[in-house]
Parts: sequence; structure tokens; C-alpha cells
Amino acid sequence: MKFLSRAPVYCNICNKELKHKHRPKKEWNIEGFLCAECHMDKMREFFEGTMTQNCVKCSVKKKITDLWEPRWQWEMEGLLCKDCFDKKEKDFTAKKEFCSMCGAKLGFFRYNPKTKWKVEGQLCRKCWDSHKEHDK
Ligand SMILES: [Zn+2]
Ligand SMILES: [Zn+2]
Ligand SMILES: [Zn+2]
Repeated sequence: MKFLSRAPVYCNICNKELKHKHRPKKEWNIEGFLCAECHMDKMREFFEGTMTQNCVKCSVKKKITDLWEPRWQWEMEGLLCKDCFDKKEKDFTAKKEFCSMCGAKLGFFRYNPKTKWKVEGQLCRKCWDSHKEHDK
């Protein structure tokens, strides 16, 4: 055991003299040491910070557990709040029900546009054919 006779160390946040020094994490950008309580508080703060994120649509801040991952078909990044997720899903289904070009209701037969056409959703026979014409 080493015998320490250094000047007392104080908590960098509440200035309490420290018996047990807690080293702050690098990410917190705090110098020196913290007491147990402040260290705990910071831990919680930091943890909550990493546990919340903004909805990529409406930017509302939510706990990650309350946010939804967009479906892969939507080709989006980030997370969505429930409202935006529902809206997006509705949009997406609506797009699937109707021809993306002329808006005609799609029946049983629907056609997937080719990737190079850069058309979202699906097409009716007529629009698909006319697109294919241009394609040649
Ligand atoms: Zn403290
Ligand atoms: Zn949202
Ligand atoms: Zn159409």
C-alpha cells in the first residue's frame, strides 16, 4: 500500500472532497475526477443521450425503444416515430394500390418498373407498355 499525502482532490462538478475518485469517461469532456453521485448522474445522462434519437421525418426526440425502423422497401435511413411510420406505411400501401404514373387502380395484374426507369411503386399495363416503348 502506498501512503498518499497529496493535496485533497475535489469533485469537478459539486466540489466535494473526494475519498473515492471516479474518473469521468473521455466522451464526457470533463477534466479531473468526480464523486460517486456526480459520476452516477453523468452516467445516466450520457446513457439517456445515447438512448434517444430524433425521428428522421418530423425530428421529434424519442427513446430509441419508442422509435420504429423503416421497412427496407422504403430505402430510408434512421428511425421513425410511430406517427411517421404509420403515415409512411399508408403512403407506401397507397402507392402499391395505384399505378405510380397514371393513378389508375391496380387490379390483379401489376407491373414492376425497371430500375433504370427510376419509377417508384408499380405500374398498370398501359403505363408499363408505354415506358417500355421509350426504352428501346
Ligand atoms: Zn460530485
Ligand atoms: Zn416523426
Ligand atoms: Zn398507369
